[in-house]
Amino acid sequence: METKTIIHELRTKQGLSQEELAEKVFVTRQAVSRWEKGDTVPNTETLKLLSKLFDVSINTILGSPRTLICQCCGMPLEDTSISREVDGTFNDEYCKWCYTDGKFIYSSLDELTEFLVGHISNEKFPPEQAREYLSQALPKLKHWQN
Ligand SMILES: [Zn+2]
Repeated sequence: METKTIIHELRTKQGLSQEELAEKVFVTRQAVSRWEKGDTVPNTETLKLLSKLFDVSINTILGSPRTLICQCCGMPLEDTSISREVDGTFNDEYCKWCYTDGKFIYSSLDELTEFLVGHISNEKFPPEQAREYLSQALPKLKHWQN
């Protein structure tokens, strides 16, 4: 879906007029109208406000151009699994199981690996294989690179 359609849908779902939405995110009604016609897209600051107002991630408002994955454990992120900052805003770098209340849950790669091995291994994907896979994949994620 395109940004213009998404904004229109989110706005009407909340029962807001263009004017009312404009007031809430400090822009003119014309600006909202231009977004919904596809002439322009909201700027970064406005996207943050829209994300908070509609309770969806910025990536979703933009039509999901990026495939988000948690930069700690590597799982794909959706709006229901994206972590949030203490103030409720989305932090689309991490899942809510790795990052909660402003804190990271796993203090080391080993700790996370052991947890994940327990969850992803099964008869077809034995623990040794899972551990091997994770030892390749996890260090590539941003959270583990410094
Ligand atoms: Zn994660």
